[in-house]
Amino acid sequence: MLGNMMFQPLLISSMIEHAGRYHADTQVISKNTDTNMTITNWGEVHQNSKRFANALSALGLAHADRVATIAWNNHRHLESWYAISGSGLVCHTINPRLFPEQLVFIINDASDRVVLFDKTFTPLIKAVKPLLTKVEHFICLDAADDAIREAIPEVKFYDDLIAEQPATFDWPLLNENAASSLCYTSGTTGHPKGVLYSHRSTVLHSYGIIMPDSLNLSAREIMLPVVPMFHVNAWGTPYAAAMVGCTLVLPGPGLDGASLVSLIDTYKVSVALGVPTIWQGLIAAAMQSGSTLESLKRNVVGGSACPPSMLKTFKEQFNCETIHAWGMTETSPLGSANQIKAKHLGLSEEERFNLRLSQGRPPFGVDLRLTDAENGTHEIARDGVTTGNLQIKGSWILNNYFGKEESALTADGWFDTGDIATLDADGFLKISDRSKDLIKSGGEWISSVDLENMAMGHPEIAMAAVIAAEHPKWDERPILIAIKKPESQLTEEEVLEFYADKVAKWQIPDKVIFVDAIPLSGTGKMLKKDLREQFGRVLLES
Ligand code: AMP
Repeated sequence: MLGNMMFQPLLISSMIEHAGRYHADTQVISKNTDTNMTITNWGEVHQNSKRFANALSALGLAHADRVATIAWNNHRHLESWYAISGSGLVCHTINPRLFPEQLVFIINDASDRVVLFDKTFTPLIKAVKPLLTKVEHFICLDAADDAIREAIPEVKFYDDLIAEQPATFDWPLLNENAASSLCYTSGTTGHPKGVLYSHRSTVLHSYGIIMPDSLNLSAREIMLPVVPMFHVNAWGTPYAAAMVGCTLVLPGPGLDGASLVSLIDTYKVSVALGVPTIWQGLIAAAMQSGSTLESLKRNVVGGSACPPSMLKTFKEQFNCETIHAWGMTETSPLGSANQIKAKHLGLSEEERFNLRLSQGRPPFGVDLRLTDAENGTHEIARDGVTTGNLQIKGSWILNNYFGKEESALTADGWFDTGDIATLDADGFLKISDRSKDLIKSGGEWISSVDLENMAMGHPEIAMAAVIAAEHPKWDERPILIAIKKPESQLTEEEVLEFYADKVAKWQIPDKVIFVDAIPLSGTGKMLKKDLREQFGRVLLES
């Protein structure tokens, strides 16, 4: 017997309808590509999304056609997302920092028919255009501009297109399992792979992230997603924001610390999200300007491990609660978020601080387990000590990659994340490494993340990466690649001394190499593969 309740498919169009109807006057504040500010609201975003849906339909696109976006976080990009997915097309967000060959590969692989781009990326589009065999339309997300028309003669302009269209559009009643958006993994090994989200997975993920024990979002928040809309859909925040009707502050191209401090202070941002490298810039700029980031109640750190020193600085200097979260492109991304339970309320400050360092617990909607082998099915203890291969399953987790028939799951239906971690009985997850970044010294595993976190706790170290270097006796030994803070005279001996009372002697890095820069991926993660190529043999040479 079935239940007697109404069936309503979970669709992305319902989120923008809700925001447009009930939160029309709530602001969406956006920094444009030319750094001017546009202050609009959910009512206008709703209307423009319908105008642009009409414009897309006038281009003759068919259900499930792919529309690519190469753009910063701004209001036009936001409107286009709702127009594309809402009208049954697939929104393919692209990281502009990819190598041009990778960018061409994924646009062709996705068979994108339209490319939307911010004017910053005009030279990039001009350069790769001859190689984009399937793209029929290029739309600049801006007002008409002769310089852009000169570079790309067939270009159309977003503002012209929506000016011609009515703000009425009947969103199609799609199957909730229909594809809604597409995001490629960073592809540090091999070609990037596409993750094709559905309307259902996106709506459920949005419910997942707004919950109090996830990001605790409501109509009273002013949210700044610094994480780009091309990095796992800005972690789902543009959808969640419409669902709860909070104020959105979109930072455009200004991701440097000083620009972010100014946005936070001017628009009274209460919650902000980004990767650790972004927060490093913000902390340095706030300290320099003397800002206390007074309005910022919480920030969410994910994408790479949050160094303990960062959590401490946010709490002690800025009275800001840091939520450490974990996820990946294949998991929409939310897999866990760190919020304590009632039984932890009585803990001492220090105990609570230690608890908050981990990547947190899975929200309802996903489940985590550890196995003793990659892609294995044999589960191991959730004792907070034993490390294993982290696997995940749930309503917003990948089943198979775009264009690939075969399942990406283990024999019993879990997705192997490639991360090595511990879990405790309450579900608290601690990532110790990517499996490929772990260091195996004389048969014993050493976590590069732990050693990096310790180095980051040194007052004179600005950034630290620990990698495995080949070793004639131990196979691999850890070495530290570090950037010193300006003016620092720190020596290798002092750094090694700093480790002495923090880890077992055999885990202390064999060498410290000071550099001026550490290569970062398009999403701000340290490219350890490049560091291994550059420094992986230094111990053989000495
Ligand atoms: P991506 O799909 O590019 O977002 O990368 C996902 C990977 O980033 C995960 O598998 C982890 O290795 C890493 N990652 C994400 N969040 C965290 C975190 N909070 N701590 C440590 N690693 C993380």
